[in-house]
Amino acid sequence: MPRRPAFELADKIIPAGKQVSVKIPSVRLYTDTPIDLHVEVFHGIKEGPTMLVCAAVHGDELNGVDICRRLIKKLNPKRLHGTVMIVPIVNVFGFIQQTRYLPDRRDLNRCFPGSEQGTLGSRLAHLFSSQLMSRASHIIDLHTGAIHRSNMPQIRANVKDPVALKMAEAFHVPIILHAKELDGSLRAQASKLGCSAIIYEAGEALRFDQTAIKAGLNGVLNVMKELGIVQRRGSRVKFDPIVTNHSQWIRNENDGVIISRIRLGERVKKGQILGYSASPHGEMEQAIRSPIDGMVIGISNIPVANQGEALFHIARISTDQISEAGDIVDSFIEDFDSRVL
Ligand SMILES: [Zn+2]
Repeated sequence: MPRRPAFELADKIIPAGKQVSVKIPSVRLYTDTPIDLHVEVFHGIKEGPTMLVCAAVHGDELNGVDICRRLIKKLNPKRLHGTVMIVPIVNVFGFIQQTRYLPDRRDLNRCFPGSEQGTLGSRLAHLFSSQLMSRASHIIDLHTGAIHRSNMPQIRANVKDPVALKMAEAFHVPIILHAKELDGSLRAQASKLGCSAIIYEAGEALRFDQTAIKAGLNGVLNVMKELGIVQRRGSRVKFDPIVTNHSQWIRNENDGVIISRIRLGERVKKGQILGYSASPHGEMEQAIRSPIDGMVIGISNIPVANQGEALFHIARISTDQISEAGDIVDSFIEDFDSRVL
């Protein structure tokens, strides 16, 4: 059988069956210090899809960085069908500064498609899109909640794209949130390029959350198995993830301290008390109620909030699915809390 042709990236040639680190010169700091985009490429011996796995598009979202690190240690290019490109840190600037944004406060995830001559974010987006995304057939983009906000492990995808839905279901976390592609986002650019992309959201910025990391690594490998890139056993705990097309943040209606009465993953009924907004001087205490039936998929970890600030993120789940959702989340959390991966 003829040998699979080599994969070329930047000026590197990656022969079939090899793992090669490729450092693509990207943008410079204003100290004239060059910054590389570091890509770990696994070029399998057999033909198959080309998958891009990336993290820290928001520089302070660290769980994905550790998922990539563990994934790099796990993959063997000699056993792979297809090609896998892994970028643990896309926004190197934000990662160094421990911030979501680029040095000019721009959000890289709103800079796509970018251009060769634009701002730093625009140039980085253009490079990432033209060099890596354009080569990929499938993308998994790893995120966490913003600073001081935790997300329950969840997938966000355009479920109207059958390939993205297949990837989302294979990832095997309890909730899939149908989310439209925001202008300038990596996912919108992927869609323009004709490739299917899903987002994994789990945990909180600037923290390693072991459950989120283990579930994320397992999820990425599950998607690779579904696409025929790797062979592995299926998940130990089987369930059909719940797909929902609506979620909403519940915001504080007063200014005060927040006494939370719920946890991430908890199921809530319409009208149920999620917590209380209270005056620190004890004069006022007002219940915060859920406007819908659903599940808590995001939560603010700061117990003080002004009026209008987001407190709880609820994904809508129909009444008849709520107890099923409860069983799924409980078994999922139990599985990954106990798992050594
Ligand atoms: Zn993010």
